Amino acid sequence: MGRGGPGTLPIAPQVLRGPTGPALARGSAEPPFPGGGEGRTVDERYDFHSHTFLTDGETAATDMWHQAVRLGHRALAITDHLYTEDPRPMMERLLQEQKAFEVEGFHTLVGVEVSMAPPARIAEIARAARKAGAQIVIVHGETPVEPVPPGTNRAAISSNEVDLLAHPGLLTEEEARLAKAHDVVLELSSRRGHSLGNGGVAKLALQLGAELVVDSDAHSPDHLLRQEFARKVALGAGVPLAHVQRVLTETPQRLLQRCARGR
Ligand SMILES: [Zn+2]
Ligand SMILES: [Zn+2]
Repeated sequence: MGRGGPGTLPIAPQVLRGPTGPALARGSAEPPFPGGGEGRTVDERYDFHSHTFLTDGETAATDMWHQAVRLGHRALAITDHLYTEDPRPMMERLLQEQKAFEVEGFHTLVGVEVSMAPPARIAEIARAARKAGAQIVIVHGETPVEPVPPGTNRAAISSNEVDLLAHPGLLTEEEARLAKAHDVVLELSSRRGHSLGNGGVAKLALQLGAELVVDSDAHSPDHLLRQEFARKVALGAGVPLAHVQRVLTETPQRLLQRCARGR
């Protein structure tokens, strides 16, 4: 399925190190990514979930990206909430900002977080977002702290339209299995409330081979995470030390590659 829509994705090939085509969930047999020559793989921060004032965030995408650069990020996705409305006005604005923003070695992604939609409509909404130019589609999962429609996790994971399930909450074993089968990345969240589900999500993902990342779900620049703190979120969720680099660097790099070429 192509991404469609306007705008090209400014991902500089020199930063996309490592194997170029493996499906996200098939990476376990591959050698670890090389250190990139600078020995800084472990310190590169990738974040696939944040918001702007186009929905309930505090500031503009440009401001979020500048702060991400200051904190040593290699990539920050803006994923503003999309309910059931037309995604085009929001995506047009984000794509304009993306086009105007250029910092060497830093990747911008613009997309949506499908939120509170009837589960049966998630696939269709995600498709509309991609058609409007979304380079990443995430879904607002069944966090323990909000009344997300039951069945959202499963619909998101099974849709074949979604890259990442945000704060899945009380993830089930079946959902973790499906996430692996459908190459949907599961999120460990540093956000208050959403983070209550992290331990269970990490445990099942590790058991069943689903991939994990650590995201901020930042609604303002000061919610963005430094890499040291993201590491604490992963370890605190129960990710073993030997697996931390996979969660913080290798899976994010593969996810970034996949977003660059379209799901
Ligand atoms: Zn929000
Ligand atoms: Zn969010």
